[in-house]
Amino acid sequence: YAQLYFPLSNLGGVYRAINQSLIDTEKLLHLLNEPTEVVDAPDAKELVVSNGEVEFDNVSFSYDDQTSALHNISFKVPRGGRVALVGESGAGKSTILRLLYRFYDLQPGSGRILIDGQDIRTVTLSSLRRTMGVVPQDPVLFNASIGYNIAYGQPSTTPPDESTIISSAQAAQMHDRIMSFPEGYETKVGERGVRLSGGEKQRVAIARTMVKNPKVLLLDEATSALDSATERGVLEGALGRLVNGRSCLSIAHRLSTIKGADVIMVLKDGRIVEQGSHRELLELNGLFASMWADQISASEDPKAPAGYD
Ligand code: ATP
Repeated sequence: YAQLYFPLSNLGGVYRAINQSLIDTEKLLHLLNEPTEVVDAPDAKELVVSNGEVEFDNVSFSYDDQTSALHNISFKVPRGGRVALVGESGAGKSTILRLLYRFYDLQPGSGRILIDGQDIRTVTLSSLRRTMGVVPQDPVLFNASIGYNIAYGQPSTTPPDESTIISSAQAAQMHDRIMSFPEGYETKVGERGVRLSGGEKQRVAIARTMVKNPKVLLLDEATSALDSATERGVLEGALGRLVNGRSCLSIAHRLSTIKGADVIMVLKDGRIVEQGSHRELLELNGLFASMWADQISASEDPKAPAGYD
């Protein structure tokens, strides 16, 4: 019976206090080192989400008004579609996610970012961010119970019910592991509690995002950091369930994890230099094909190329 796992009654107060913060996302997008400039427009409306369709329409962006980080980027993530970003370090992958999460606003004349046809500059930040779930490379867990850490995904000020937390943990393939801890969902995690592996932390982040149930997902895949092939397999299964039915924009480090993406966009110096399915890009025999060849030769197992960054 669910109630044996953890009394959620303890959760409400703390939950409301921290729920509004965005620690994971901030970490993902390196926001802690960056200014927060964006505020709601005086006439900002609530984002109305129907399909969760994302569009970048001719987006250009510079952090410092001198060097350009993105040039004329256009693409769409259709309802439930999966678009992956690849490219070497500094190519602009994180910048695309940061702009979508609206840590920076585009200058007038530098293109538009739309969700279900609405320019994200015209909607409230809170409604925009409610729509999006983020699974970062290295999720931050609170020094609190694991149940709390999952419940925290809920966007409203009311904690989710236990069955939601448990079914989310099950979908993230984390429930059995949690039940193996001495106090189940009440077990403390983090510095002062049970230590979780990198893959387990990501599964907690996946469970948290399942609770949030967003239409749009931003993923920063970190499978290269995982300890074992088994752990990678479990994580990929959990991610697969999370992605299913949602529009997904991901940064991929291991090219093998995005074989199934509808479109892979290859970025170089802030431009899209190639795009297509995995197969189309291999046939093109350009930058992607050479990245793929590098990963294969760097890996002992040709089916599991090593990380690329
Ligand atoms: P990585 O794989 O290393 O995360 P990336 O493809 O995500 O790289 P971005 O972080 O989007 O690359 O960076 C794109 C460009 O913008 C780079 O030239 C980078 O130096 C620059 N840049 C990123 N963040 C800032 C910032 N806060 N201020 C100034 N320039 C920045």
